Amino acid sequence: MTPRHVLISGAGIAGPTLAWWLVRYGFRCTVVERFAELRTGGQNIDIRGAAREVLRRMGLDDEVGARGTGEIGTRFVDCDGRAVGEFPQTPGETDGPTAEREVLRGQFAELLHERTRDDVDYRFGVQVDRIEQPADGAARVTLTDGTTLDCDVVVLAEGINSRTRGRLADAFGVHERRLGVSIGYFSVPRVPADAQDGTWWRWYNATGGRSITLRPDNVGRQRVTLSFRSAPVAADLRSMDAQKDVLRRRFAGAGWQSDRILAALPDVDDLYLEDLGQVRADRWSDGRVALLGDAAWCASPVSGMGTSLALVGAYVLAGELAAHVHHQDALARYEERMRPYVTRAQKLPPGAPGVMHPRTRLGVAALRTAFRVAAAGPLRRFETTLFQPPADQFVLPDYRHLRAVETATTEKG
Ligand SMILES: Cc1cc2nc3c(=O)[nH]c(=O)nc-3n(C[C@H](O)[C@H](O)[C@H](O)COP(=O)(O)OP(=O)(O)OC[C@H]3O[C@@H](n4cnc5c(N)ncnc54)[C@H](O)[C@@H]3O)c2cc1C
Repeated sequence: MTPRHVLISGAGIAGPTLAWWLVRYGFRCTVVERFAELRTGGQNIDIRGAAREVLRRMGLDDEVGARGTGEIGTRFVDCDGRAVGEFPQTPGETDGPTAEREVLRGQFAELLHERTRDDVDYRFGVQVDRIEQPADGAARVTLTDGTTLDCDVVVLAEGINSRTRGRLADAFGVHERRLGVSIGYFSVPRVPADAQDGTWWRWYNATGGRSITLRPDNVGRQRVTLSFRSAPVAADLRSMDAQKDVLRRRFAGAGWQSDRILAALPDVDDLYLEDLGQVRADRWSDGRVALLGDAAWCASPVSGMGTSLALVGAYVLAGELAAHVHHQDALARYEERMRPYVTRAQKLPPGAPGVMHPRTRLGVAALRTAFRVAAAGPLRRFETTLFQPPADQFVLPDYRHLRAVETATTEKG
């Protein structure tokens, strides 16, 4: 019997996780990645609820835990750094801003790659150029290096700005929703004398729709986000210098640690600027081509669910492909199972992300009052209104009986 062949485009989080599971079910996997090497950029990502159970089933939970950033909770601060509200991470709770598993995205991507690279054909620096779907057999994919591959299923796990999805947008009925906030992510050196530099995720709101956050990592630095209300800017600012200029102008005089952060900006070499948005697609498959992860349903970092959805989605897609001989049945069941979970995750808290970026002094004061009240205890439920990831609201299907399946019948037509 010939193993079924799945081509996965995108070696981020969703793609390698899918490959990990498919290999266990006896599939042959090829992963293509647009960049010349694995992308290890990014800051803290959250792994919550059902996604943590996926990690456990992959035997990776302890390793991810060992790579944790050490963040103990989220603290909202005023311009003097005094806490106005604190939300410590409580083991077993999945709904706070600091998740049970906080890990640097790059370290997690490396772990997934390390655990799959011996069994998966990774090809870096290439992309899907063309996909043909003849009525009577496998999809024929031509890559940008001229190679052609016959695949039972093609999965686009290319992230929010997926190019291949863009070319097939009508097939999936894709709508992109901009959220009116842009964020610059980068890291700065930790200040050893500042005892607060290292444990809490500190979050400061300034007037003018701006917020600054600092959070620890496990490599001795502080991860910064500078977020601001804005029409989309990232696509027009290709050079890092131009991006730094925008941040410098927007955050001059913002208060709290803005002077320290802006002073460090000239030496920053890991800046990533993005305009927050969501992706909604009417369908997640077209014939043998399926969408997965942010490419299918980006819920935005505001949801706190991007990586968790990618892990759960990859687990479900792999399980359904293994459970069904016909790709149509597998892809239909994958969407049926995942759609309600994704829809809930895409529902952001009322007014978010704008409500977290007040423009006026009065707005900032009101938000701080809300944090103070929320952190006080009996009203902790307010926290779940602001940070409401529905991470637990999914029962993972049990595919463990499929593990014994080493090869599957190659389907025809
Ligand atoms: C560099 C980077 C930094 C990030 N930083 C953060 C962060 O700090 N916080 C956060 O919450 N989320 C971050 N994210 C997003 C986060 O990883 C996702 O929300 C989530 O993990 C879902 O993962 P994904 O695999 O669907 O998408 P992604 O992790 O975005 O991975 C998509 C992969 O597909 C590749 N790709 C894109 N187009 C093509 C193409 N045409 N052909 C082949 N490959 C392609 C990309 O290079 C990338 O490797 C980051 C993503 C990236 C790529």
